[in-house]
Amino acid sequence: MLTWNYSLTDVVIAVLGICVVFNLLILMMRSLRRAAAGSGGSSVVFVKNPILETQVQSLSTPATVYDIKDLGDKTVELDIRSHREHCKFVAYWGVPIKDFPWSDAEPPHQHKEELLLGYVGSHRLQLNVKDCELGDQPRTHYHLVTVISAPEAESMLYSIYHLYGCSLKTSLLKQYLKSESGSMLAVRSIFNESRCVICMDAPATFTLLPCRHSCVCRSCLPHIQEQCPICRVYVQSYFVTSPIDTE
Ligand SMILES: [Zn+2]
Ligand SMILES: [Zn+2]
Repeated sequence: MLTWNYSLTDVVIAVLGICVVFNLLILMMRSLRRAAAGSGGSSVVFVKNPILETQVQSLSTPATVYDIKDLGDKTVELDIRSHREHCKFVAYWGVPIKDFPWSDAEPPHQHKEELLLGYVGSHRLQLNVKDCELGDQPRTHYHLVTVISAPEAESMLYSIYHLYGCSLKTSLLKQYLKSESGSMLAVRSIFNESRCVICMDAPATFTLLPCRHSCVCRSCLPHIQEQCPICRVYVQSYFVTSPIDTE
C-alpha cells in the first residue's frame, strides 16, 4: 500500500525547486550561446531572400496615342500627343497578321495613309478605313496598325487596333516599340498609383514585377512582405520609374 507521507508545504517547495532549476538551465544555455557568438563561433542566421532590382532601359516614344473613337461609317478619330517635332504618322489597315511585325520598312499591302505631325502637342486625326478585309474567324488581318516615328528618335511606336464589330468596341490591342537595333519590345502598361500605398506620403516610384503595380516608395520597399500590397501577387523583382529616385 502506498501512503501519502508528504505535507502540502513539501509539495510546494518541490515544485518551486523544479522551476528554479529549469530557469537556471535556460539562463545557462542562453549565456553559452551568447559566448559562442561573441568568440566568433558559428551561429545560424536566417535571411529572407532579397528582392532584386530589374534594370530597365529607357526608350522615349516619339508620341503617345491617347484615345481612339469610332465615329461610324468606318471612320475613326485618333487623339495623339507628339513629344517631338516632325513626327511621321503612318496608318495601315487590313494588315495581314502573319506579316507583322514586318521586317522591311513597309508592310506588303496597299491601304495606307501618311501624315506629318509638325509640332509638339495634341493632334486629332480622322481616318477612313474602308475596304478593310479581315478574313474569316479566326481573323487573318489586323484592322489598323499605326506607326509613329521621328527623326533621330531611338524608337518607333507600333500600335495595333481593333476597330468595330465582333461585339468588341474599338480598342488598342497591342503596342510595340521598335528600337534602333530592330528589336520589337511589347509595351505593357504600368498600373500607376501616385502615392505610396504604405506610408501614404512619398511618391510611389517603385514598380513591382510581375504585376506592374507602381505603388511603393524607396523607404517602404524593404517593408513589403514578399507580396504586392495591392494585388498580393508574389514580388519577383522591381524597377524604378522616376529618374529622381534612381540614386
Ligand atoms: Zn512609402
Ligand atoms: Zn500588384
